[in-house]
Amino acid sequence: MRLSRYFLPVLKETPAEAQIASHRLMLRAGMIKQQAAGIYSWLPLGWKVLRRIEQIVHEEQIRAGHHPMLMPTLQPADLWRESGRYDAYGPEMLRIRDRGDRDMLYGPTNEEMITDIFRSHVTSYRELPLTLYHIQWKFRDEVRPRFGVMRGREFLMKDGYNFDLTREDALHAYNRHLVSYLRTYERMGLQAIPMRADSGPIGGDDTHEFLVLAETGESEVFYDSEITDLTFGDREVDYDDPAQCAAILEEFTSRYARTDETHDEAEFDKVPEDRRRSARGIEVGQIFYFGTKYSEAMGATVQGPDGKPVPVHMGSHGIGVSRLVGAIIEASHDEKGIVWPEGVTPFHCGIVNLRQGDASTDSACEGIYAELVKAGLEPLYDDRDERAGAKFATMDLIGLPWRITVGPRGLKTGVVELTSRRTGESEEVSPEVAVARMKDVYGSAGV
Ligand code: ATP
Ligand code: MG
Repeated sequence: MRLSRYFLPVLKETPAEAQIASHRLMLRAGMIKQQAAGIYSWLPLGWKVLRRIEQIVHEEQIRAGHHPMLMPTLQPADLWRESGRYDAYGPEMLRIRDRGDRDMLYGPTNEEMITDIFRSHVTSYRELPLTLYHIQWKFRDEVRPRFGVMRGREFLMKDGYNFDLTREDALHAYNRHLVSYLRTYERMGLQAIPMRADSGPIGGDDTHEFLVLAETGESEVFYDSEITDLTFGDREVDYDDPAQCAAILEEFTSRYARTDETHDEAEFDKVPEDRRRSARGIEVGQIFYFGTKYSEAMGATVQGPDGKPVPVHMGSHGIGVSRLVGAIIEASHDEKGIVWPEGVTPFHCGIVNLRQGDASTDSACEGIYAELVKAGLEPLYDDRDERAGAKFATMDLIGLPWRITVGPRGLKTGVVELTSRRTGESEEVSPEVAVARMKDVYGSAGV
């Protein structure tokens, strides 16, 4: 992409309404525009990051054997009357009436609808196990929408639902989700710690929330600092192997880690004092096992091995896709702007032309641009007729992990500058080496 033709409405001023870094930076970098309280347009740069995050979520869900699909945002109220949640949900639910006077709602979640789909089509235990998911906009009329996309009213969520014959199978599905989530967040450059949580209005037995540590997080968390040494890495996982998934869950959840809702001082005191931490965290996902709550209320049964109908065991599993954009920025920024992890960056690198209009500089930039595109990468080429300082400030603000700076002085000796946004370190290399380095970096990041 050439910046001269792109739509990147960066702001010079710091918007007064933004209280936290991610909100400020998303507005300043021209990623979002607020349309109403907690409702945002995603401008081109923001949209690209959202898509990268969605893509990672899809890849990891499919890897775990879960099936993507899409349910509508609007739902008939009658489904929710069956589960009893139409009245129970309260003012967070946006209720709508259509021209035929039918009660509708903008879905805050999809347990009822997926259970309806299941009961319409699945009749035998032989069709299990089954996990379906979608990535769709949700609406919750939050009392206090704030912090930009972190607590919106309309927000994008991945929500998945497992259907299993037995509690044991459903617990494997739960573990499988936990494992797939660990890999998902790590690919986004995040450490998200699974913490035992309260089950809240969805109700149920087992639940973990995934929290990213950040001062601006809304949750209070308590944990054993050893947890922060754990990494998932590129280990091979057989998602059909219950023992392996259970072992990974054990590895990542055996140390103390809880939110304030389930925090237990007596248990916490058993952690050696120098490893006890209390901090703030951002909830970026949650998994639940809730058994037969919805299947019994809504008649989602299958014929079991003995021919008798049995209600299926279910769970639901959510990732806050749009919240993640903010969470990643909270975890990765500095005073100049965003610092994107390579896994989610909107463009792989920036090219800064220091002397626009100078024939040899222009042609070196064009050459690098063409080679990067040929390698399947997406560079953002700042080809505007601007001062170098302004170009650097824009690149730093929007946070691309790498910058290739091209100017007449370097070109005299055949070099350009390759700069890491994270460390600020620069190296002088030939244009060919700069391109090769980008291929290497993103090749190994699996991009
Ligand atoms: P919270 O406690 O933050 O209100 P929740 O527990 O009600 O969230 P879930 O039902 O667990 O939310 O939804 C799954 C995920 O969707 C959450 O982990 C979070 O990342 C995201 N999410 C929930 N509410 C919002 C919101 N208002 N804006 C953006 N993302 C949200
Ligand atoms: Mg939650």
